[in-house]
Amino acid sequence: MKTAYKRIQFNMLLAGCLLIAISSPQADAQNLLKSLFGGKSGNAAIIRKARAHNLVPVSEAVPEARIDLIYKRTSAAKKPLYHPDMPALIHKSTGRKLRQVHQIVQKQGYGLLIWDAWRPPEAQQALWDAVRDPKFVVPPSRELSWHCLGISIDLTLTDQNGNPVKMPTGFDDFSDQAASNYKGGDPEVARNLKVLQDAMRSVGFRTIRSEWWHFDDMKAAGGVYKPTARDLGIRMP
Ligand SMILES: [Zn+2]
Repeated sequence: MKTAYKRIQFNMLLAGCLLIAISSPQADAQNLLKSLFGGKSGNAAIIRKARAHNLVPVSEAVPEARIDLIYKRTSAAKKPLYHPDMPALIHKSTGRKLRQVHQIVQKQGYGLLIWDAWRPPEAQQALWDAVRDPKFVVPPSRELSWHCLGISIDLTLTDQNGNPVKMPTGFDDFSDQAASNYKGGDPEVARNLKVLQDAMRSVGFRTIRSEWWHFDDMKAAGGVYKPTARDLGIRMP
């Protein structure tokens, strides 16, 4: 009798779970896939290879962050550097720091918008070929950029609705106005930039002089690797 009762209870539980699964909006299923595979389920093989190089999807490290890889659309090379399927990847320990940054800025009413994270050496070479200014792009002769290790990140802040807030310049503005030491006179820009820089520095990121949107993780824990797009099975444009 007791067993039968338990079975009924179990069946009810099962029915409940099924009901939840059936009634869940498609978006929830997509989010689940996203968190498991970092974007599209078709990227599963790429993500598996990335993990072997200590790279994880940004969407998994910081699920709340908005991701907009600008290089899918355009670049200083006047063409996309990434295929539309390119996943946003970041070093595992750098991702943990970025999550802390999210928590810090969220308390102040901001969100994060990621413009670039891990960058395949193939894309770094294309960027260098286009810009050829060591002030803004690390030349391949200097062992490529830390972006290629997954420990650099390009980002800005958003408001609570996910809209980018006012900052000194847009992304990849290779001019003096893009300096991380803001000298312009707009107090709103100065305040926004300070929130971003304070939060990033407080967890161990460093700023660089020429690009306010760029931050390096000086102490990534665990192995740091430099896989190519080819190593991870990523298509390049
Ligand atoms: Zn950068």
